[in-house]
Amino acid sequence: MLTDYHVHLRPDDDGTPAAQYFTAGNAERYRAVAEERGISELGVAEHIHRFTQSLDVWQHPWWQKWARDDVDEYCAFVREDTDLRLGIEADFVAGREDRLANFLDAREWDYVVGSVHFIADEAVDMDEWSVWGRGESAEKVWRRYFETVGEAARTGMFDIMAHPDLVKVWGGDAPKPGGDLRRYACARHWLSCGHWCAAAGRGSRRSLHSWIDHLPGRIVKISRKRRGHEHC
Ligand SMILES: [Zn+2]
Ligand SMILES: [Zn+2]
Repeated sequence: MLTDYHVHLRPDDDGTPAAQYFTAGNAERYRAVAEERGISELGVAEHIHRFTQSLDVWQHPWWQKWARDDVDEYCAFVREDTDLRLGIEADFVAGREDRLANFLDAREWDYVVGSVHFIADEAVDMDEWSVWGRGESAEKVWRRYFETVGEAARTGMFDIMAHPDLVKVWGGDAPKPGGDLRRYACARHWLSCGHWCAAAGRGSRRSLHSWIDHLPGRIVKISRKRRGHEHC
């Protein structure tokens, strides 16, 4: 069975209010395309930082800028107005695990997608707050990124880890570390996480797949779900 659980119903841009995108009609558009492509089960995983309650987890200025909507209204919309699985893309923020656990445990998710967009206070995938802005070596940025991904995976808080190669995708114009880059995918920190989601954007899928043989866990597009659903 084909599934896709890493879907966002609205873009990341300004001027994309929840009221405009969290509608039964919009969900139906996604459902129709999924059907065309043979995807029988679809789940949404909106970004945690779009919700005001995320500020209980982290108060980074970038999150403060985006936190506008109510997460419980999002949950109610997905449950009541759609047939989509209910997920969330939750950033791992080192040191905020307990706060994130409180946020997640307070709601009935079908699954939680974990991701790393920030290394400490710096962003991997945007110009603002960019991790590349301080001139730190590519070697160091990559090492810190993959250590953070491993740290996130080891928490056991996430059912799926999203786009594990984000540093490569968005650091495309930045200097690359030397040598065989697959050594990062072999990092021992990853050993404890068996589930990965090959969801990085910008045409990275092929190069991600070239890493897959080197990942120790079972590579699946979608991993187990919460609440007693079957493994897929
Ligand atoms: Zn995402
Ligand atoms: Zn993401």
